[in-house]
Amino acid sequence: MKQLLNYVNGRWVESHKTFEDVSPVDGSVVAIVHEAGRELVDEAIKAGHRALAGEWGRTTVAARVILLRRIADEMERRQEDFIAAEMADTGKPLSMASSIDIPRGIANFRTFADIISTAPLESHRLDLPDGSYALNYTTRKPLGVVGVISPWNLPLLLLTWKVAPALACGNAVVVKPSEETPATATLLAEVMEAAGVPAGAFNLVHGFGPNSAGESISNHPDISAITFTGESRTGSTIMRAAAEGVKPVSFELGGKNAALIFADCDFEQMLDGMMRALFLNSGQVCLCSERVYVERAIYDRFCNALVKRIKDMKVDWPHDPATEMGPLISAKHRDKVLTYFELARQEGATFLTGGGIPHFGDERDRGAWIEPTVISGLQDDARCVREEIFGPICHVSPFDSEREVIARANDTKYGLASTIWTSNLSRAHRVSEAMRVGISWVNTWFLRDLRTPFGGAGLSGVGREGGMHSLNFYSELTNVCVRVDSETEQ
Ligand code: NAD
Repeated sequence: MKQLLNYVNGRWVESHKTFEDVSPVDGSVVAIVHEAGRELVDEAIKAGHRALAGEWGRTTVAARVILLRRIADEMERRQEDFIAAEMADTGKPLSMASSIDIPRGIANFRTFADIISTAPLESHRLDLPDGSYALNYTTRKPLGVVGVISPWNLPLLLLTWKVAPALACGNAVVVKPSEETPATATLLAEVMEAAGVPAGAFNLVHGFGPNSAGESISNHPDISAITFTGESRTGSTIMRAAAEGVKPVSFELGGKNAALIFADCDFEQMLDGMMRALFLNSGQVCLCSERVYVERAIYDRFCNALVKRIKDMKVDWPHDPATEMGPLISAKHRDKVLTYFELARQEGATFLTGGGIPHFGDERDRGAWIEPTVISGLQDDARCVREEIFGPICHVSPFDSEREVIARANDTKYGLASTIWTSNLSRAHRVSEAMRVGISWVNTWFLRDLRTPFGGAGLSGVGREGGMHSLNFYSELTNVCVRVDSETEQ
């Protein structure tokens, strides 16, 4: 059986405590994972500080750019291994792992190599009344040892989204992937070793959250900052731990995202887009729409067309290139989603399609499969309309006016993303600006330019990452203020 070890201070470290990495396709064990105890996390953080005091701390931006590109090249060379590992852990379809997860993971290193190599630094001149002036300029230094805690839904993509800018800015990192998806992070550690990243600059520890490696990182007195993607509730726990040492945090959290579909949209384009927004990664993308508002004139047409498309959707073996949807991440998560199906019934929802688990008559019946599901008929205050479910389920409801739908879409404690479908240019701008979210898409969904700010309002996050926003989070900026005297008689 494959063993997934920790990587600390440039060494592979076993643990006497292990846990199983289980495939959600059929419930089989794909690897044994070595869980890091508190001492190993402590060793990783110490190794990070030693790296910063040594060779790694002296690397120039130019040298780090070369290193990031070497990491990307090495990942590309091992692309097939990464795809296989991501699919084994998550059961996500080949079409997705090979076109989104792994290429984006590689792109994160190339993008941040480009961004750091051209990143401007501020400078301001302040004229003073006596004719002298002050010249201010900003220097960028690493924050220190950054704790990176990531989720299971886009494992490599979301982890590298944080590791790449953190290393670009010269930090050391202690990375903890989700316990559900340890494989691609372990491959990334192999890549770091092969690319010649100095010992201690990149450390990987495996484990869970509470009473395990996640908690050991977030409440460690010597961690310099924490960057986290995951559930809002976990963010709140980590924030409490970080508050003790007043540590900087960057949080990308949950969502209950709205889709606003106007009758004047390009219907077929919208339907293609909405199938992705609802069911990509079995609905397990933080940006997926779970609340769908449709202008009344096309409401019935939309519901009928959506149900038809779902019936034609290929929910099948992940390795089949035509498969569009695989299982959920785990039996535990499926139980959670099924609880919401039950709750929807209690709340009086109508199921337009789905609502159960598919039966295949083979080993997949031991996996974590679930039916793509559409419900309707709930009030806006129903729990199924307010709480993040994180599965292939959405609630559809009609609306009558632009003002009404803006108010209903914004009536949430979350604020991650929205997607608006219309051919009216002014409405597109007006409505997207009115959305209280981090990203508002128009006639598209999940189209990402990595230079742009990414994050969420309300319960969906703290801060923004992406482009210069990432560099600013992962840097300690120092303003140097130099007084320049006015010319004096010689
Ligand atoms: P999660 O919060 O359960 O776990 C995320 C990570 O935090 C895991 O590595 C876990 O081990 C760790 N963790 C859990 N409890 C911890 C604790 N007390 N201290 C320290 N670490 C702890 O989230 P998940 O179930 O893995 O991911 C799904 C969630 O992530 C959804 O809510 C989804 O919306 C959100 N998400 C948000 C974004 C975004 O960019 N905003 C992206 C992807 C996923």
